[in-house]
Amino acid sequence: MNPWVIDTIEQLRPYAAGKPLEELERELGITGACKLASNENPLGPSPRALQAAQSALGALHRYPDAGAYELKQRLAAKLSVTPAEIVLGNGSNELLDLLVRTFATPEHHVVFGEPSFVVYRMAAMAGGVPFAAVPLTQQVHDLGAMAAAVQPNTRLVFVANPNNPTGSYVSRAALSQFLSSLPHTLIPVLDEAYFEYATASDYPDSLQLRHLHPNLVVLRTFSKAYGLAALRLGYAICPPELADYLNRVRAPFNANSVAQLAAMAALGDEDHLKKVVSTNALERERVTAELSALGLQVWPSQANFVLVGFGRPGAALYDQLLRLGVITRPLPPLPECLRITIGTGEENNRMVSAVKSVLS
Ligand SMILES: *Cc1c(COP(=O)(O)O)cnc(C)c1O
Repeated sequence: MNPWVIDTIEQLRPYAAGKPLEELERELGITGACKLASNENPLGPSPRALQAAQSALGALHRYPDAGAYELKQRLAAKLSVTPAEIVLGNGSNELLDLLVRTFATPEHHVVFGEPSFVVYRMAAMAGGVPFAAVPLTQQVHDLGAMAAAVQPNTRLVFVANPNNPTGSYVSRAALSQFLSSLPHTLIPVLDEAYFEYATASDYPDSLQLRHLHPNLVVLRTFSKAYGLAALRLGYAICPPELADYLNRVRAPFNANSVAQLAAMAALGDEDHLKKVVSTNALERERVTAELSALGLQVWPSQANFVLVGFGRPGAALYDQLLRLGVITRPLPPLPECLRITIGTGEENNRMVSAVKSVLS
C-alpha cells in the first residue's frame, strides 16, 4: 500500500493477456503449440494488407497523418457516415479508455455487464469512476437490469455485442428498446469488436439505430476479423460533437501509419473478409457440436470463440491443456469455464483431442 497512490489504482491489476505462443514453447521446450486464447484471426490479414504494411516502411521516419484523412474517407464511404463521425484509436481498447477519460470523473458513474470485456472495469478504475457491473442472465446481457442500474450521474453504458467472453448477443429488437429507454445525459457505447463475425439474422446493424439515441457510440476494430491485432487500430462511429471532444483528448498520433495503410488495403479486400467469416462460422458450429458431444456446455456464439463450461475448475484444465500445447483462456469470473478461440480446422481438431484427453 502506497499512501499517496489513488485507491482505485492501488486495487487495479494489469490486464491478463493470453499467454504468448513463444512463452509456452520456451517453457515446455516444444514447438508448434497453438494459441486459442486471444480471439485472433487464424487466417491472418488480407495479403493486400500485408503488402500495404510493407509499403509503409519506407516512411517510418515521418509522423503518421494525425487526422488519418484517407482512411477516414474510406471508412466513411463504406459505413455511409461522414469522416467527422469517425475517431481512430490505438485499438478500440484505447477508445474505451478515452471515452471514460473524456466524459466521466469520480463524480460520475458507468454501467457495464458482468462478465463482459474487463477493460470497461479497468478504464473506470483507472479514472476513479464508480461503476455498476450488472450480472448477465444465462450469459446474455440483461439490458433491463442495465437500464435500471443507470443513475442520474451515469455517463457511459458499455454493451459488448457480441459479448466477450460469452459469445452471446442482443437482438435488434432488444437493443432498440434499450437505447430508446436510456436518458440523453449518457453515452451508450456498443462495443462491436466481433461485429463482422455475427451471422444471426436478428443481430442488429447498429448504425441503423442511431436515431434511437443522440449519443450512440459504436466501436469496431481491425484486430479481430481483419486480422491486424498487432497493428492496434480501432475506430469509433459517433456524433460529430462527441468525436470532437474525443479528438481533443486523444494523443495526436495514436493511429500509426503502418496501421492506417494496412487497414485501407484490408477494407478493399472483401473476399478475404468473407472467407474469414464463413470459415469461422463453419468451424464455430463444428467445434460447438464436438465439444457438446463430450458432455460439455457450450454457449451459442456469434463471435470467433466459444465459452465452454466444464463443470469443474477451469484453471486446472487450462494448465493441462497448456502441457498439451494448447493455449486457451481461463476466466476468473467463470471459474468452471474456459474461453476457446475458433482456430483453423487443424487447430480446432488438435484442441478437441486435447480436451478429450484431459477429460479422460
Ligand atoms: C478484442 C476486443 C476489443 C479490443 O480490441 P482492440 O485490439 O483494442 O481493437 C474490444 N472489445 C472487445 C469486446 C474485445 O473482445
